[in-house]
Amino acid sequence: MKIYRDVFVSEKKLVDVICNMCGEKIKKTDNGVLCDYFHSEKEWGYFSELDGEKYSFDLCQTCYKKLLNQLQISAKNDEKQNDKT
Ligand SMILES: [Zn+2]
Repeated sequence: MKIYRDVFVSEKKLVDVICNMCGEKIKKTDNGVLCDYFHSEKEWGYFSELDGEKYSFDLCQTCYKKLLNQLQISAKNDEKQNDKT
């Protein structure tokens, strides 16, 4: 025989993401679903001035585009680049 009782479990639910660059909340759809955003995590390793330091940040699409525009070499993977291999 199995005996059950109600158990209330606390869990963490992601409700908002804030862009580290502009401080704005990542937009949501009308249904409350987070729109896509950029997330990065990095733990620096040996032979680095940042050895052992951990970083993580999130960017909205607008700030992600700003970051991309600062790169000397495009980070976009498209078919043209793939054809060069
Ligand atoms: Zn932003």
